[in-house]
Amino acid sequence: MSDTGTKPVKKYPAIHLQSGRQRRVMQGHPWVYSNEVQMDTTAKAVPPGSPVRLLDPGGTPLGIYTFNPHTLIAARLLSNDPATVVDQAFIADRLRRAVELRDRLFSRPFYRVVHAEADGLPGLIVDRFDDVVTVQANSVFMDRRIDEILAAIDEVMAPRAVILRNDGSQRALEGLAEETRLAKGEIDGSIRLEENGATFFANPLDGQKTGWFYDQRDNRAFIASLAKGGRAIDFYSYNGGFGIQCAVAGATQAIAVDRSALALENATRAAAANGVADRFEARKADAFQEMERLGTAGETFQVVVADPPAFVKSKKDLAAGSRAYRKMARLAAKITAPGGYLLCGSCSHNVDPPTFAELVARGLHDAGRTGRILRSAGAGPDHPVHPHLPESAYLKALVLQLD
Ligand code: SAH
Repeated sequence: MSDTGTKPVKKYPAIHLQSGRQRRVMQGHPWVYSNEVQMDTTAKAVPPGSPVRLLDPGGTPLGIYTFNPHTLIAARLLSNDPATVVDQAFIADRLRRAVELRDRLFSRPFYRVVHAEADGLPGLIVDRFDDVVTVQANSVFMDRRIDEILAAIDEVMAPRAVILRNDGSQRALEGLAEETRLAKGEIDGSIRLEENGATFFANPLDGQKTGWFYDQRDNRAFIASLAKGGRAIDFYSYNGGFGIQCAVAGATQAIAVDRSALALENATRAAAANGVADRFEARKADAFQEMERLGTAGETFQVVVADPPAFVKSKKDLAAGSRAYRKMARLAAKITAPGGYLLCGSCSHNVDPPTFAELVARGLHDAGRTGRILRSAGAGPDHPVHPHLPESAYLKALVLQLD
């Protein structure tokens, strides 16, 4: 506090945009690439992950950004107000707004709380499981501020336990090591969560360390609404999200197929918790092999879900991954009953929605099937998208009825 009682204006290092390179930023884009700033001695000396003041080529302040002189995206917008002080109160304010939005969207405290740029906190992901919270700090900026982030989370959500799940692939790009640990409280094995009225279990501390994929919430509700009275099969089921919601919605049988025993254990527990154990089967198998086997056996299902891990993790996987999506659609279509419903999912951000739709269409054709797209959707609203970063909308879910 200064003597006058006014907020001290913190003097963060000044970074200048190169002249002629300011247009995108002036139009509201939240990122600045390294070739757009003047990499002068000040810029080069900024410790990675520090807040900076960004100035246009004429010297007008544009706001406060996080800065890393060593990465392709050099600066990310934190606040358009050049007087912003980046501290615990700043983070808590952003968090509070993010929680308010989710509490309006959902009736229960199970959701993604912070989705990076779209919630004004670039590089930060926070998921909430009622009184357990998981945190991913994917940038040097967030990593260095982890104590303030944890304190802000306590201030806003007062969770019983907090898990740091710093295992995302983005961390390597920022030169950060992987680490998963309990930052607060205790976890008794798995954690419990709710989605669309059903109960599930996840192990964010071990196994795949991924917790729960809330992004498919609305797509799960949609496909479940089509499952009544028929059999459903859920490939790459993970902890059972799609399959069990189909069973709860009245499918006569739901089969979860995954190669992870731990995931299937969680799914089996969820089936019991939702009172559908008698209609649920966990099958440990390779998805493509099981699809082929069922296809050869002539088995069909009213609902088929195939929501795999990213087949295209980086651009170099594009050709092989695209072939895999097409093959997945072919094999899944083959076991979809005439008049039945197929959901194909993809979380590869390198495959855009029109490309994914084309791969699925080709796969259907390969299987000698046709039909109609009923729903073409992305992630739910707890995974908002920054208006200038539409490419960050990585999730695709295509639901078709097949003839
Ligand atoms: N559909 C899930 C998310 C998929 S996560 C959901 O709604 O939450 C990816 C899952 O695919 C993981 O559980 C992983 O164990 C499984 N998996 C990866 N490769 C597989 C394969 N070849 N066969 C079967 N399962 C696989």
